[in-house]
Amino acid sequence: MRFEFATATRIIFGPGKISELAGLAPAFGNHGLVVTGVNADRAKQHLSALESAGIACRYFSIAGEPTIDTVREGASAARYANFVIGFGGGSAVDAAKAIAAVAPNSGEPLDYLEVIGQARPFENPPLPFIAIPTTAGTGAEVTRNAVLGSPEKRVKASIRNPLMLARLAIVDPDLTLAVPNSVTAATGLDTLTQLIEPYVSSRSNPFTDLFCVEGLNRAIDALPKAYANGADRLARTEMAFASLLSGLALANAGLGVVHGFAAPLGGLTNAPHGALCAAVLPHGTALNIRALRERAPTHPALGKYARIAALLTQDQNAAPEAAVTALANLCDSLDIPSLRAHGLNANDIPGIVEKAAAASSMKANPISLTANELTEILERAL
Ligand SMILES: [Zn+2]
Repeated sequence: MRFEFATATRIIFGPGKISELAGLAPAFGNHGLVVTGVNADRAKQHLSALESAGIACRYFSIAGEPTIDTVREGASAARYANFVIGFGGGSAVDAAKAIAAVAPNSGEPLDYLEVIGQARPFENPPLPFIAIPTTAGTGAEVTRNAVLGSPEKRVKASIRNPLMLARLAIVDPDLTLAVPNSVTAATGLDTLTQLIEPYVSSRSNPFTDLFCVEGLNRAIDALPKAYANGADRLARTEMAFASLLSGLALANAGLGVVHGFAAPLGGLTNAPHGALCAAVLPHGTALNIRALRERAPTHPALGKYARIAALLTQDQNAAPEAAVTALANLCDSLDIPSLRAHGLNANDIPGIVEKAAAASSMKANPISLTANELTEILERAL
């Protein structure tokens, strides 16, 4: 057995743990930039103790998912900051992560982007970054990349560097109690996707497998409960933990075809990342299993899909294909719309397939899929 597993983030997890921030933040300096969602009021309320701890905070709000322009503006707002806090969903956390990285470096955010930019290395280390997620979630509090949209190129791509890992992640499930139903469903299915894809990934290892199986076990039980009753504190805690595990798994084992599609789909529509992953998940799973059966029938990923199916159906003898039906049923019960509901149609498919094939997530898919197979996934997901 050989593997590598890295994280440099101090993780503090549990209901009410946000109260520890004021005691820990002064170690990073006395000027903080807080990056948050469109309404900064909630962040201001939860972070008010920072002022009493002698920290001057400037707030930077972002609407929707971060773009190259967001990060350029944020980096200029971070000019006097000693550290950056991301308080919000995956968008705010990723925006903060990218702003912390770009602020002390020269040039444009695009210079540092993979796929569509030059993936230039940093001259200077990023500012210290603290992640406080309020959804469960993207696991962005423990990943080393930030996903940014390029409206001109109509695609999303990452800035990626191990130095971008948060120095501190405070995961307080109580912050997710107010999340509305539709966001609970989309972010929860993103978590589920981020536990399935690293598990079957070509870069998986026994250590990341532990995170995936544990996270799947908890999320499969807790997601319908959190969706049915947002105030279910135990279900919210389970989902926050599953999301954290998904981030640790994907940062070390990569993703796959569903996230390969999420990058170009997210560039074409304003639909949230989780909703797009959810719409593609059953179909990407179906085609992966079919391709493995046809071209690699002894591949270990097939056994892992059988394990996923067993967890989803509670039937220890379930075939890998049973996972597809169970995931489709789960998406139905959580009212996940198809891609057509986000304004996509058949004319978009060839362009999306071409961009997805080049996406960084696609490299870790357990089997290389043909253009026809990628097309079939999208046709089914429409
Ligand atoms: Zn995701």
